[in-house]
Amino acid sequence: MSDSILFTNARLFTGVDDAVIGSAAIWVEGRYIRYVGRAADIGPVGEAVRRVDLGGKFVMPGMTESHAHISYTNNGPGDLDKTPVEQAMIWSIDNARLMLGSGFTSAISFGSVHRIDVYLRDAIDKGQIPGPRLCASGRDIGATSSNADLHPDYARPQMEGLGMLADGPWAVRKAVRTLRKNGANVVKLFLDGEGLSNHAPPGELTYTDEEVEAAISEAHARNMRVATHSRSAAAVKQAVKFGADFIGHANYLDDEAVDMLRRARDRLFVGPAIAWEMQFLANCESMGFTREAARNRGYEREVEATVDAVRRLRAAGVRVLIGGDYGLNITPHGTYAKDLEYFVDLFGLSPAEALLCATRDGGAAVDPSGMLGTLEAGKYADLVIVDGDPLADIRVLQDHRRITAVMKDGQLYRDLTRANPYLGSADDLASPRGAVTAGSRLAEAVLAGE
Ligand SMILES: [Zn+2]
Repeated sequence: MSDSILFTNARLFTGVDDAVIGSAAIWVEGRYIRYVGRAADIGPVGEAVRRVDLGGKFVMPGMTESHAHISYTNNGPGDLDKTPVEQAMIWSIDNARLMLGSGFTSAISFGSVHRIDVYLRDAIDKGQIPGPRLCASGRDIGATSSNADLHPDYARPQMEGLGMLADGPWAVRKAVRTLRKNGANVVKLFLDGEGLSNHAPPGELTYTDEEVEAAISEAHARNMRVATHSRSAAAVKQAVKFGADFIGHANYLDDEAVDMLRRARDRLFVGPAIAWEMQFLANCESMGFTREAARNRGYEREVEATVDAVRRLRAAGVRVLIGGDYGLNITPHGTYAKDLEYFVDLFGLSPAEALLCATRDGGAAVDPSGMLGTLEAGKYADLVIVDGDPLADIRVLQDHRRITAVMKDGQLYRDLTRANPYLGSADDLASPRGAVTAGSRLAEAVLAGE
């Protein structure tokens, strides 16, 4: 069996810029891209290379979910860590599969219940389960009365769930060191809070500068990156000042915050993660809030402020990433590509610009060495084959039936979004489904348009 495959007759979006190349070819050898571009320019290709005619399907780089909570179990926001760890682990295995099947070949975790993400990452890397390349975080770190302090004092669960409370620089350093010992790549830090939270609203800083400096310097010294929850300008400035790598939300910006972000734009990324606000406003009644109450909590204003913030960030050349807070009851797993629609309809990006945020910029956030996010010779073969044109309608990426196949690391996957992809039928004996190497006969069967 050859480990080399040549896709031809593709409409190619490389993610390098917003161009589309018709009649394109992509040559994958092992886990790397050997050639990508016009089929006419490819030069000699050996006889042993398996050829698959894509029939004009759209090929784009794999996307990055930049603010992932794979271990959330579609609970309400107050119940994030109330699923038993055993059940949460099973959900997470399913969620990782669903994320990859939805076209997201990479993810940056923004907080995990228990130590689930670390074990997921390792199982994915070993090939035991399908899932995205995962920058794994540990439990959230926050102060007493921060947004990580989820449960009232009279009802604190007697288990280690999502929040790790640490007050004072040395306690914060110890929390970061604990994550290092537990194998995390990312430290999630709460710098301010949430409209729904009575004790930690946006704009009320929940850590002092001294504590934030301790957390971030300790994380960097221990080879981990830092993701912050920063809704207000004050919390964004605190994150930038002390060197955070991924800033989540950044809904309310002032001139000084925009200027600081602009000056730091080569070393950090911002993700608005607007799905939560949008779906909360759309579903507030089912969550026990009238529209009036949701407005009083500031959520309509927050959406308006975020539209303005994203416009200013992009004008300042700051890389804005898609994704965020999928895995709640109102933002269930599998709906990650909805974020691209928000980028187009709400933030006013073109579909190609939104795709670049999802691919090129997300890939750079996951892998600073530059091996991800675009389809270029020498890079990892992470790509999505789409039966449709996301540049004409970005919503096609939300339709799992239109995701013909996903390739990660040169490995082709299909049907990962089915409720149970392991179910077999007699037909499968002739054309087995599931994860297979690029050179197998499945590639041919799948991509011939079966
Ligand atoms: Zn989050």
